[in-house]
Amino acid sequence: MNNGLRLDNILDQPKGDSHSVEDPRKRAFLRAAGLLVADLMFPQVRAATSPHPAVGSGHKVLVIIFGGVRRAETFSAEGLVNIPHLSGDLFLKALFYSSIRNEGVTAHFNATASILTGNWQRVDDWGKLAPTTPTVFEHFRKRLGASQDDTWVVASNKALTNLLGASSASGYGPQYGANVVFPKQLMITAVADALRRGRTGDMADRTKVEAQFESALEGSNYEGLGWTVFDAADRLDPRVRHPIQDAISTFVHGGPTSGDELTFLVSREVMRRFSPSLLVTVFSDVEVAHFGSYALHLAGIRTGDRLVYQLWQEVEANPEYRGKTTMLVLPEFGRDPDGSTTNGFFNHRANEESTRSTWMMVLGAAVGKPDVIERPIRHIDVCPTLAGLLGCPTMDSEGERLAELLV
Ligand SMILES: [Zn+2]
Repeated sequence: MNNGLRLDNILDQPKGDSHSVEDPRKRAFLRAAGLLVADLMFPQVRAATSPHPAVGSGHKVLVIIFGGVRRAETFSAEGLVNIPHLSGDLFLKALFYSSIRNEGVTAHFNATASILTGNWQRVDDWGKLAPTTPTVFEHFRKRLGASQDDTWVVASNKALTNLLGASSASGYGPQYGANVVFPKQLMITAVADALRRGRTGDMADRTKVEAQFESALEGSNYEGLGWTVFDAADRLDPRVRHPIQDAISTFVHGGPTSGDELTFLVSREVMRRFSPSLLVTVFSDVEVAHFGSYALHLAGIRTGDRLVYQLWQEVEANPEYRGKTTMLVLPEFGRDPDGSTTNGFFNHRANEESTRSTWMMVLGAAVGKPDVIERPIRHIDVCPTLAGLLGCPTMDSEGERLAELLV
C-alpha cells in the first residue's frame, strides 16, 4: 500500500503551494472539518440541553493560553508588529498586567496546570499525572453544581493531556472535571481510521472526505473527551501515523506543529453549542520554535493574535456572551533569552526574566476601566480570580485573587 500517494490524493496539495491558511480552499476545508469534528463531539441530545441554567454569578469566562512567547516578540517596541490585534484593537479596551510571572516549572503541562489550579504544580511535564490540587473546573462544578458541559478545555498542544481537566485531590477528580478536547488529534485519528479501513479511494473529493471523517469518528466509539482518541493515535503503526501526522499538519497550517486554526474553530463551536461558563483555549502554533524556525515562531504569534481577536469578536456577537463575559489572554511563559545555553527562543527552560516574566490582557465585563497594572502578579493568581468571577466560594490556593477584576 502506498500511503504517501494516497495522502497526496486526500490532501490534494497544489504544487508550489505556500501552505498558507489564507488559501481559500484550505480555509473552507478546515472550516468544514472543524464543524464536522464539533458535530461528532457533541451528540444532539446534549446540545439540546444547552444553554445551561446559570449557576454562580452567571458571569462567563474565557481563558486563552498562548504557549511561550517572549516580551521581545510581543509587547515591546520591536514586537508590536507581530500582535496588531492585541496591541491595536484590544489594548485600548483592556486591563493590561505588564508583568505576570511563572515562578514554577516552565514546561507546558505544569505551567497550564498551575494557571488552572492556583498552585505551582510540579507533576510530570508531559501530563502523565494529574495536578495534585483541585482545578477551577472541579471547584466550580463541586461547589456550585455546574454541569460538565459548562466547563471546557480545547487545546492544540501535544504536551497537554486530558489530565489537565481534573486533579488527583481527594474529594475531587474526573467526576467534577472539564471536557477536554484536542481537535487536531481528532482529525489525525479520523483520517487514520479511514486509511486503515481502506476507504481512501473516495477521498480526493473533499465532500467525501467530510463523510469519511464523520464515519470514522462514529465508528471509533469516541466519547468526545479526547482521551480515547489520543491513545488510539499513539497505537497506530508509525509507518502510517507519521506521514499522516505530517501531511495533516502541513495541510492545517503549513508548519510542522500547527493546529491553532482548528482549535479556534472548535472553541467557537463549543461557545455556540454549549455556551459554557468557563472555556479554556490553549493555542500552541508558537511552539514551532522548538524546531528552530524563528520565522514560523513569529507566524505562530501572528496567528494567535488574529485568533484571539476572532474569539473576542465571537464574545461580542454571541448573545450568550455579550456583556457578561471576561476574557483573559496570557502566555504560559516567555522563552529563553538570546545567547542562552539553551538556544534562545527555541526553548523555555532558563531561569531568566525572559522565560519567567510575561504579560496578561483582560477584556470584558470585569474590566472597570482600561488600565495598565505594573504591579507584578503570578500565574497562580489567575485561578482564584476565575473562581471569584464565576461566583465560587474562595479557593484554597497559593494564588490570590486580583482585586482589579470585579463583577
Ligand atoms: Zn514548548
